[in-house]
Amino acid sequence: RYAGFPIVKRNENFDFSFQPSIDATVVRDLSTLRFVQQAENVVFLGPPGVGKTHLAIGLGIAAIEAGFQVLFINASVLIERLKEAYRQDQLDRYLKKLVKPKVLIIDEIGYLPFDSQAAYCFFQLISRRYERASTIFTSNKSFGEWGEIFQDHVIAAAILDRILHHCTTMNIKGESYRMKDRKRNGLTK
Ligand code: ADP
Ligand code: MG
Repeated sequence: RYAGFPIVKRNENFDFSFQPSIDATVVRDLSTLRFVQQAENVVFLGPPGVGKTHLAIGLGIAAIEAGFQVLFINASVLIERLKEAYRQDQLDRYLKKLVKPKVLIIDEIGYLPFDSQAAYCFFQLISRRYERASTIFTSNKSFGEWGEIFQDHVIAAAILDRILHHCTTMNIKGESYRMKDRKRNGLTK
């Protein structure tokens, strides 16, 4: 039922007062799931601990509760599975599986680079989902740095062009929520 989520998070439990760079009205608007009906994308950008994964899962849970099929996958795992499928001549079959969910959440783009084979497979995935189904991305890298993630600026531009055509981007700046807990426990000044 939880479609691969590592943990359950709800956006009702998100403390917007802790993260003033996030516009709560935008999150509330996304929570109506109109973006799912319109096959639009969502990107959460920002440093570690600012709530990117929390918000992405929160939207995913809301979508499941509204009856949409949702799949959560970590980007590093996705890269390995795409490459494995490609090696075994099963890429088309695996892509078909990834195109089906109305919401696909790809978490942590940018921690691991895509080699050219993975970038090609990822481009296929983005192209097939484009204007058909929503994809939610989280990344610690700005769009300007995505060229380095894909190690190829031409394919990165083609990927971004499709993602951003119908997309809400939330650029989160601020302190890690994890740091807040550490401070409260007196482990950090
Ligand atoms: P990121 O994906 O940006 O690295 P996470 O979404 O994993 O960060 O957040 C780190 C932890 O802090 C999680 O347990 C998350 O639920 C919690 N968290 C982050 N921001 C908030 C917030 N503003 N209100 C409540 N919990 C938060
Ligand atoms: Mg995260």
